[in-house]
Amino acid sequence: MAAIIPIPAFSDNYIWLLREGGDAVVVDPGDAAPVVDYLDREGLALRAIVTTHHHPDHVGGVTGLLARTSVPVFGPAHERIPGCTRSLEEGDAIVLPGIGRELRVLDVPGHTAGHIAYVGDGAQPIAMVGDTLFAGGCGRLFEGTPVQMSASLQKLAALPGETSVFCAHEYTLANLRFAQAVEPDNAALRERVSREQAKRDRGAPTVPSTIADELATNPFLRCSEPGVVAVAQAHAGRRLDGPVETFAVLRAWKNEFR
Ligand SMILES: [Zn+2]
Repeated sequence: MAAIIPIPAFSDNYIWLLREGGDAVVVDPGDAAPVVDYLDREGLALRAIVTTHHHPDHVGGVTGLLARTSVPVFGPAHERIPGCTRSLEEGDAIVLPGIGRELRVLDVPGHTAGHIAYVGDGAQPIAMVGDTLFAGGCGRLFEGTPVQMSASLQKLAALPGETSVFCAHEYTLANLRFAQAVEPDNAALRERVSREQAKRDRGAPTVPSTIADELATNPFLRCSEPGVVAVAQAHAGRRLDGPVETFAVLRAWKNEFR
C-alpha cells in the first residue's frame, strides 16, 4: 500500500504525496518548490498530478512541476486547471500511474462550483477531499449554495467510517473551537480536542482524520442532531426547517466566529 505523506506549503496547506517504490503522485500542489525538494531528497520520480479544484493554493505549482517533468494532470471537468490532461466527474475512475491505486471520483460542489473528491475503496479506504470536508469543519461556500455543499458533505459522510480523510489545510483546532461552541457537551468532541492539541504540541499534523471521527464531532455532519439543531435555532433566533437550513446557519456563524 502506498505511503501518503503531507508536504506542508504556505502557512497551513498540505500537499499530499503518494509514494510507492520510486514513484510519486501529488495531490493539489499549490506550490512546486516543496514538492521538488521532497522528490529530490527522496529520489522519487513524479508520475502524475491530481487536483480537486481551481484555487491557486491547490494548482499554483502545477505549471512549475510540468516544466520539470511532463506527467498526466487529473482535474475537475467543470473547472479550468493548468495543464489538465484528463477531465473528471462523478462516475469516472482513475488508476494512479506508478502507484497502481484506483480512485473513483465524486462531484462535491459547494466550496467551488466544480470541486471533485477522489475515493479509494478497499481494505484501507481513503478520500482526498480538497477544501470540502475539513477535520472538524468544512470549506467556505465561495461558489456554491448550502444545498449543494450539504449534499456534497453527505456523500462523504456515507463513506465507511474507517475511511482516512485527507483534507488540504491544517485548520483543525480552530474548527474544533467552533464545534465546541455548537456542542459544549459532546464528550467525543472534548476527547478529540485534547488528542488533536497533543499532535499540534509535538508539531505533528492532525490530518488525516476518519469519517467516523467526523461523524462524531464535526458539526457540519451533525445537522440532524437535536442538540445541534437547537443551538443553531437559538443562534438564528428562528425555527429552522431541516438539516440544510441548520447547515446554512452553522456555516454563516462559523464565518464570523473568532
Ligand atoms: Zn479552495
